[in-house]
Amino acid sequence: MTCLKRLLPALIVLALLAGISGCGIKLQYQGEPGGAASPSAGAGVSTPPSADASASPEDDGGASPSPSVPPSPENLVPYNGVVEHLFFHPVVAYPELAFDGDSQQKGIDEYMVTVSEYDKMLQSMYDKNYVIVDWNDVWSEQTDVAGNGRMVKNTLMIPAGKKPLILSYDDVCYYDYMRQNGFTYKLVIKDGALWSYGLDPKGSAVYSQDLDAITILDKFVKQHPDFSLNGAKGCLCLTGYQGILGYRTMTDVNNKTPQAEAARQKEIEAVKPIIAMLRATGWYFGSHSWGHINLSTVSLAAVQRDTERWFDEVGSLIGPTKLMIYPFGARPDGGDVTKTGPIFKYLQSKGFRVFASVGIDAFSKIKPDIDAVINDRMHADGDTLRGQRDRYLKFYDAKLVFDTARPNYGVSWDK
Ligand SMILES: [Zn+2]
Repeated sequence: MTCLKRLLPALIVLALLAGISGCGIKLQYQGEPGGAASPSAGAGVSTPPSADASASPEDDGGASPSPSVPPSPENLVPYNGVVEHLFFHPVVAYPELAFDGDSQQKGIDEYMVTVSEYDKMLQSMYDKNYVIVDWNDVWSEQTDVAGNGRMVKNTLMIPAGKKPLILSYDDVCYYDYMRQNGFTYKLVIKDGALWSYGLDPKGSAVYSQDLDAITILDKFVKQHPDFSLNGAKGCLCLTGYQGILGYRTMTDVNNKTPQAEAARQKEIEAVKPIIAMLRATGWYFGSHSWGHINLSTVSLAAVQRDTERWFDEVGSLIGPTKLMIYPFGARPDGGDVTKTGPIFKYLQSKGFRVFASVGIDAFSKIKPDIDAVINDRMHADGDTLRGQRDRYLKFYDAKLVFDTARPNYGVSWDK
């Protein structure tokens, strides 16, 4: 884990960084989750992939040495401005499988970016002098004179001339529907490093560091260490209904046989070193609910059941986190950020302190009445590539990034 070594305590920032008009975007997914342990909302159908092939590593993973050096403490300056926040879904490794005209095509086009786009986006953000910071380093919890906990925005110490950026990644679970539609299958450790495993369009097994958002960023930071402050990478926002990180660690309420439990335990043991390696290399975790539930429409009782299950099956593996990332970007309790309803209170009581939605900018607001902060994240995806070029120019130019392998749905900037 990255740590707070280089932070200074700072003033509470109560001002809104932007209008709350940016809170309304809600992501909707194509498809329904399936399987015996169906959540009430989510992504993807659950037909298992069918393919068999022998391993054929395609990449030696060796990043060439770089002249870049990590920032040294004496070059750090205090930063109190907006901390930008961009989130991704898993990236499309094989556009020909993602954009093949099936029922998932439209959702993938709207909510995902391709490897080619992701590569260009990272390069552009690096060129524009962004530096990745750890979300956990941006906020601290302090106790006021009355003994109440309060979230406080830290003064980040960052290299002069750089702009801080949080990255987060939703649904890093390698859902069954993704495996069928051109995404990688799981993270694995090979030769002491993280790789993705998956099948190419011909059904051949592929181990790579160039096809998955996580390994691509790992490689990029290795080549450009000054793209990351203290080695920070991104927040992996995890549901639990199809396990985590490509490992099927979930319980199946319709199959409680000893064989099923033994298989689950095997997956749990297999994912533990992956979690440890992610943590050791700057990644950290947040909750995205167990069942990808829509917090704006479900009951408090349903949220409680879902949250207990998330802690049992996901939290037990990844450890404590203060980060709660709303599925669909949907805020609970009516969505009014000036109010604090029973679902928000319940989630806060379970240890969550930072609650993230999706919006038009990196909005943030410290709650005045409860120990918590709310954040909006901007969304790097097909929707904003096609329709919001101007808003994202500070990060990258959609015109230069857009993958022509996408379906021909049109773009707003090609007039
Ligand atoms: Zn999600």
